[in-house]
Amino acid sequence: MKNTVLKKIKVPRGRAALLLVDVQPDFMPGGALAVGDGDAIVPPLARLMATDLFAVQVATQDWHPAGHASFANQHAGHQPMDRIQMYGHEQVLWPDHCVQGSPGATLHPGLPWQRVTLVLRNAFQAAGARGIDSSRLQD
Ligand SMILES: [Zn+2]
Repeated sequence: MKNTVLKKIKVPRGRAALLLVDVQPDFMPGGALAVGDGDAIVPPLARLMATDLFAVQVATQDWHPAGHASFANQHAGHQPMDRIQMYGHEQVLWPDHCVQGSPGATLHPGLPWQRVTLVLRNAFQAAGARGIDSSRLQD
């Protein structure tokens, strides 16, 4: 990903929002719940964030308390990536990640976060698996 990404994006200048979802070290190579090549998105995102294309920039931040219900170590006999039924929905059990205050939970240091208007922290309740109830998104 180089500047070709920026050239392909057509947005009505000043009338669109840029949403940055969970750009955090724990989702980058070496992180607790790494996405392969996840850090490849950082330089193009930094260039996008530095433009004046967007009226608003909003970020989400995965932000779990220690002992979160979606963590595998909270369920005896289960390993990360196992699936269980929880609160009437299938839940993937995750390794501990994005624990509040940990280095892996910070917003990625390679981005100009001062350009972001709002940061929404999700999954911050100990018992809930998600900050947003995705089962209602189908209604
Ligand atoms: Zn999470």
